[in-house]
Amino acid sequence: MIPYGRHEVNQADIDAVVSVLQSDFLTQGPAVPKFEKAIAEYCGVSHALAVTNATSALHLACLSLGLGPEDILWTSPVTFVASANCALYCGAKVDFVDIDPNTYNISISALSKKLALAKIDGCLPKIIVAVHLSGQSCDMKSIFELSKIYGFKIVEDASHAIGGLYQSKPIGCCDFSDVCIFSFHPVKIITTAEGGMLLTNQKCLADKVALLRSHGITRDSDLMTKEPDGAWYYQQIDLGFNYRMTDLQAALGLSQLERLDQYVSRRNDIAKRYTEHINSELIQLPYVDASCYSAFHLYIVRVHFQDENLHKILFGRLREHGIGVNLHYIPVYLQPWFEKMGFSSGYCAEAERYYSQAISLPIFPSMTDLEQDEVCTTLLKLVHDLKEERTL
Ligand SMILES: *Cc1c(COP(=O)(O)O)cnc(C)c1O
Repeated sequence: MIPYGRHEVNQADIDAVVSVLQSDFLTQGPAVPKFEKAIAEYCGVSHALAVTNATSALHLACLSLGLGPEDILWTSPVTFVASANCALYCGAKVDFVDIDPNTYNISISALSKKLALAKIDGCLPKIIVAVHLSGQSCDMKSIFELSKIYGFKIVEDASHAIGGLYQSKPIGCCDFSDVCIFSFHPVKIITTAEGGMLLTNQKCLADKVALLRSHGITRDSDLMTKEPDGAWYYQQIDLGFNYRMTDLQAALGLSQLERLDQYVSRRNDIAKRYTEHINSELIQLPYVDASCYSAFHLYIVRVHFQDENLHKILFGRLREHGIGVNLHYIPVYLQPWFEKMGFSSGYCAEAERYYSQAISLPIFPSMTDLEQDEVCTTLLKLVHDLKEERTL
């Protein structure tokens, strides 16, 4: 099976992790701050905080922005559940804005309309989580302009997008957001096994996240309610968590970071080659906006069959033929947990149309041209066969 994604660990990565294993610190040592500094410099952002994964980064982003039980968070339905769950962790409500039919990111026109209505109804969102699906940035400038009118905060879920550019600047620079988060899960662009990073240009947010990722405990006497009892003293001044990344993970991340540009460039080469080889009037290829350099975490095609059942059949046959396709994502609000909140099918028409047509093809840096040719040939043949079967 040619998988849809595959991480790569080389000898330099292994050596980096082993050297931490042989050092004095497995966690809370020098590797985490070093990794944070390297990511902050790469992205051109003031603060980067490593955490256990992107899910905890999203949770801390929401908490540090003050999301609470009276509040609402909006996000795209075409994302991983974690982009929405962060609202629920804070006791807030979640709502969904339909996607753009070309980029599959949050639709600016749907967002503008929904905001205007929400203003009238007095239920504006406190936070919008903008998900950069497949590694292509959302239209951040437009979202930022809307935030000035309607007063919401912006979190970029850039789990797919490290190494990508928006308006020629690295995703993660936070020019148009309060916070940006990355995931280093092995399916993503670079990996620390589990791991995530939260980036911001706002010192007060960074300080809050630093506190909350380590139990809400401080050793800074300026923040304490009284003079320290002694040199051992610390105070818990907030309810935090243990969301710290280990030094083993940070060392792996630092080593992987060296190859980030190479990886993203290779992903773009693979995408370009798919675009050249997949020529069928039934298959819609990814659209990349001129303002973006996509990290191409995913290569998503849409198959335009008359009969939606054929999409399901094609997907099954691709897997039977050893092509490890996937589907990103089931509209989040169709998950039973969200249906319990009152969401039901039909809520976001574009997202559901997308879901009935989308297929993520294999894309990963070590994919060979031969493997890619096999994907293209198999896909084109299966689509052709299905079309023939139906017209007979
Ligand atoms: C993978 C992913 C997450 C969660 O990442 P973890 O590091 O596994 O917690 C969140 N949002 C999106 C869009 C993702 O793809």
